[in-house]
Amino acid sequence: MQQRVWQRSASWRGWRKKVVAACALAFGAAPVVQAQAPAPVPVVASFSILGDLVQQVGGERVQVRTLVGPEADAHVFQPKPADARSVAAARLLVVNGLGYEGWLERLLRNANYRGELVRVADGIEPLPARDSHDHGAKAGHRHEHGHDHGEHDPHAWQDVRHVIHYTQRIAEALCRVDAPGCDHYRQRAQTYTQTLRALDAEIRAAWAPIPPQQRKVVTSHDAFRYYGHAYGVQFLPAQGVSTSSEPSAAGVARLIRQIRAEGVRAVFVERLTDPRLVQRVAQEAGVTPSPVPLYSDALSPPGGPAPDYVSLMRHNTRAMVEAIQGRP
Ligand code: ZN
Repeated sequence: MQQRVWQRSASWRGWRKKVVAACALAFGAAPVVQAQAPAPVPVVASFSILGDLVQQVGGERVQVRTLVGPEADAHVFQPKPADARSVAAARLLVVNGLGYEGWLERLLRNANYRGELVRVADGIEPLPARDSHDHGAKAGHRHEHGHDHGEHDPHAWQDVRHVIHYTQRIAEALCRVDAPGCDHYRQRAQTYTQTLRALDAEIRAAWAPIPPQQRKVVTSHDAFRYYGHAYGVQFLPAQGVSTSSEPSAAGVARLIRQIRAEGVRAVFVERLTDPRLVQRVAQEAGVTPSPVPLYSDALSPPGGPAPDYVSLMRHNTRAMVEAIQGRP
């Protein structure tokens, strides 16, 4: 404040401009000098879906950088020195939590980060990680670059109600680092929450015509348990909860038997995963995988089918419902 006062009094030219502007205003002309907007708050989000949520809440008051961008896999991310520099320069770091960012602690140390950190999934009722028998000898083993198979499933954003919670957590965190913008953040969070409530209702309406026993979907990795829990869909993942784990032969054989026995028609490859496992499963079970991929852990680039969270949920829902109904 002191400095700003000094700058004003020292700048005679600026002062004169303001007088001119005031006169122009008095005579009904457009103001010549405009109030300068505050510099945007630098925020780092761990992955693309959170990056979108921070942008929705922050609007023009924030400058968001995403560590794991669109179509990139947060399970196997390896931070680079440039990522540590971005984190070091941030005033707020937004992560999912629940063990999703297994690389976070090391990155915080490397960046010597002392700023605000928010784990948006803190406070939700987490689902337990699926029992890890299918991971065979690797169960419980901490992957070098992925997340460990902790006790909770981290993919909570697949339930829109949890993202309403994420949105509130983001708004509160932004209020802590940028108090003058707090009303702005709360207002935007409220507006976005209304969008999310409408999205939640839209997803329920889309599934309503499908009888519960037909709501079965085969996917690549175990990323949709929250979606299944929220919207009454049973997911049969070919792979475990992290993309970095290997499925067992017995688990794959069991899945093929189940697809045949239960007449499962919706078989999907996810955007980030190696399609070969699901393709093999589908072929052996005698079903055709959907030509449309599902987006689980990352957005698509702009112009793709899932450039933001709301589009991602709409795209996945439509693709699954249409596959079950036998439409291409
Ligand atoms: Zn995942």
